Amino acid sequence: MATTSPQLASPLFSATVPIVRPELPRDVEHAEMGAHWERIVASGLLTNGKQVERFERRAAELLGVSECVATSSCTVGLMLVMRCLDLSGEIILPSFTFFASGHAALWNGLEPVLVDCERDSFNIDPQRVREAITERTSAILAVHVFGNPAAVQELEAIAAMRRLKLIFDAAHAFGARSGARPLGGGGDAEVFSLSPTKLLVAGEGGLVTTNDRELARKLRMARNYGDGGSYDCEILGLNGRMTEMQAALAAAGLQGIGERLAARNRMASIYESILGEHPGIQVQQIDRCATSSRKDFAILINEAEFGASRDFVRAALESDNVQCRAYFDPPLHRQKLYQGCRRGDVSNAEWISRRVLSLPIYSSLPPAAAEAIARRILSIRKNT
Ligand SMILES: *Cc1c(COP(=O)(O)O)cnc(C)c1O
Repeated sequence: MATTSPQLASPLFSATVPIVRPELPRDVEHAEMGAHWERIVASGLLTNGKQVERFERRAAELLGVSECVATSSCTVGLMLVMRCLDLSGEIILPSFTFFASGHAALWNGLEPVLVDCERDSFNIDPQRVREAITERTSAILAVHVFGNPAAVQELEAIAAMRRLKLIFDAAHAFGARSGARPLGGGGDAEVFSLSPTKLLVAGEGGLVTTNDRELARKLRMARNYGDGGSYDCEILGLNGRMTEMQAALAAAGLQGIGERLAARNRMASIYESILGEHPGIQVQQIDRCATSSRKDFAILINEAEFGASRDFVRAALESDNVQCRAYFDPPLHRQKLYQGCRRGDVSNAEWISRRVLSLPIYSSLPPAAAEAIARRILSIRKNT
């Protein structure tokens, strides 16, 4: 097995192909942005104004939920949802996730219990959730990994049966669908991220979606220090507000979301058609009835079958000016902060994290570039 970095005569791309580019509104929407910007400045209200309300209303319509609460980030949204649901004791979440999922639990003084994911979907395994429940469990936090919808209905059934709260970290999943329905109405709440690497961009931002009006009322207080307007706080909040400028950008981005979703899925199909059936390469399985947002396109490289390791392929692509990343390696159970956590068997998270490699995907990536990247990966295999 080769252990050194491959030396190439000339790189596949002369300029870096980034792994991600922010999905910003198109030109026509930029003009509209300017008008909103002027209105914001003229109004003198940079926060707590009409833009946030308008964005929340439009997002609620698009996602088919009764309530949307915009926040300063998804991490803060998750923290506030956990606080407003009055959780205590243990919260079950997948080890294979971005660390912000676990951080939100830790900030609430909760004990994360790390469970395994499925090898094909990369999402939390409902059976592992059942096994991890104790009398100290108060909630389940599931993640739609890379935009692939988690087993929403099965998790809802578990939560209902065991009287647990259910939250979805939907950071990756804006626009993703389960059947014909957009994600957003699952469990007690779902929380989307609007940071620059995600599908809908506010610069920084989060969006909590729920059909629970009482929870939404508390969240609106909680993002405003816990003040409902009386200057006499009922609950502990923090400053988790979204600014008017962020909301205007996010609202403009809503218009093109369908196109971006389609473009990303086309890109994923190109990668899949070239890499999907290859020995030693596995792609994330999306349920036939679901549509992933394709926040990331990840492949798993099995060194023994493929003939080169994940890290070797990664180095080869980097030397070809193709940026790639190993999300989520290490998974939570291997990170220092999470060493004390109770956990179940996490062998699938281990298996995936050692093999995973995310490739560039965004709506402005030329299809020919995706095709060239996929073919290059196969040639790495032949040469080693
Ligand atoms: C990006 C991300 C978050 C955090 O989102 P922010 O808006 O940056 O706070 C949470 N969970 C997952 C799975 C993420 O990828």
